[in-house]
Amino acid sequence: MKATAFTVENIPLIKPGDDIGRLIIERAELEEHDIIIISSTIVSKSENRILSLGKVKVSRRAEAIAKRNDNDPRFIQSVLDMSSEVLIESPFLLVRINNGSICVNAGIDRSNVSGSENVLLLPEFPDESAKRIKDTVFELTGKNVSVIITDTNGRAFRMGQTGAAIGISGILPTRDWRGTEDLFGRVLEVKNEAIVDELAGFANILMGEGNGGTPAAIIRGLDLYHESSGINELFRPEKEDVIRRALISR
Ligand code: GDP
Ligand code: MN
Ligand code: MN
Repeated sequence: MKATAFTVENIPLIKPGDDIGRLIIERAELEEHDIIIISSTIVSKSENRILSLGKVKVSRRAEAIAKRNDNDPRFIQSVLDMSSEVLIESPFLLVRINNGSICVNAGIDRSNVSGSENVLLLPEFPDESAKRIKDTVFELTGKNVSVIITDTNGRAFRMGQTGAAIGISGILPTRDWRGTEDLFGRVLEVKNEAIVDELAGFANILMGEGNGGTPAAIIRGLDLYHESSGINELFRPEKEDVIRRALISR
């Protein structure tokens, strides 16, 4: 196996209304079945998902959590506003957001956003954002590509953060090995590889977390193109999610 990966250079600071698909195809010679990985930060900026903390109305609950967690009550309120369920309240907020994903602080970011009072919400419908970018690339180049929108997430049980896929188009979220054989003829029963997270993790190494200004990367040579699907398959069904159950039953 051989694959190549590179960042898309010279992407400007993204403003509301910018067309991410077009900005990428103007800066990279795309090939059929390339995988384009894009940080959610620039997708959010293009979709004007910027929130000014000055406009947030703080509830009693947010006030209390903010005091306990030593955080800005307006930030806590904006996390609660984006959440459908709170799994951990302190020392940080772990919540389920409206699209079903479970993440710390509802994925709201304060880094790489201009204005000290501004925070950046995740794209509202990340699969749709990915599909829109995929469709733009097809319209402008005739090439079928996979698109993965990523965010940097912490993990349970392990230190450090990695890239994770939050919205996809033109690729299946997993590669299912179940029913295939290992080297010794034993049938695999569990392995369903979360390939979009693996790709997001690798692309995140190229994109970085700081002032690199490289919010998009291309991975070429892995033929993983597939008609659209969505990220939901990666969210553990409630009845199987023993960790969630343990957290909310405390
Ligand atoms: P996240 O992981 O999606 O939350 O995004 P990060 O804040 O970690 O940023 C990922 C990469 O994108 C870093 O290299 C940033 O410097 C870069 N980045 C963030 N916003 C912009 C932007 O508006 N324009 C450009 N060119 N790069 C950006
Ligand atoms: Mn982020
Ligand atoms: Mn990041």
